[in-house]
Amino acid sequence: MTALPQGTPGIAWTVDDGASSDVVEAYARFAATTGTRLTFFVNGVRPSWTEHADLLRPLVESGQVQIGNHTWDHPALTKLSDQGIEDQLTRNHEFIERTFGVDARPYFRPPFGYHDARVDAAAARVGYSTPLLWYGTLADSGDITSVQIVGFAEQWFLPGHIVIGHANFPGTIGALPRLGQLLEQRGLATHTLDDVFSR
Ligand SMILES: [Zn+2]
Repeated sequence: MTALPQGTPGIAWTVDDGASSDVVEAYARFAATTGTRLTFFVNGVRPSWTEHADLLRPLVESGQVQIGNHTWDHPALTKLSDQGIEDQLTRNHEFIERTFGVDARPYFRPPFGYHDARVDAAAARVGYSTPLLWYGTLADSGDITSVQIVGFAEQWFLPGHIVIGHANFPGTIGALPRLGQLLEQRGLATHTLDDVFSR
């Protein structure tokens, strides 16, 4: 899956990893303040998700924020055994259930976007039948500036796009207010995956 259903008048803004606790917190506060609908693909190994679970939980409960499975600790799934793939998703599934009280299935995002038929089959065996990729990126998995991130958003925040961002480096924090304004200027709604796809 790389795009939203034809004619969807907005974007799915997805946020991965959680290497920075400050960025996870900034995203949670941004969502609470602006009502922006987000999907987080969490790696349970990152303490940021547990540290800010109290902030995120009400947003998850209301459905404004959705949680997806990005594996426990971000390996290239194509390099793991079938059992290894299942273990990565299952361990993170249990973390998500315990921390946020939700079932993240069927959406998983393979780290680095690396997946193939064998990965997809192993993931489906543990209920993760939908690899959720993207069409457009904020390119902030590495340490870039807020201005650069806003530039990528100007390029990719367009109707029907699934956009990938990362909660990893501080440049993202400074970009958030500007990204909110950009959505407003373009009249773009934000959608979680459950808003636009039926499970
Ligand atoms: Zn990732």
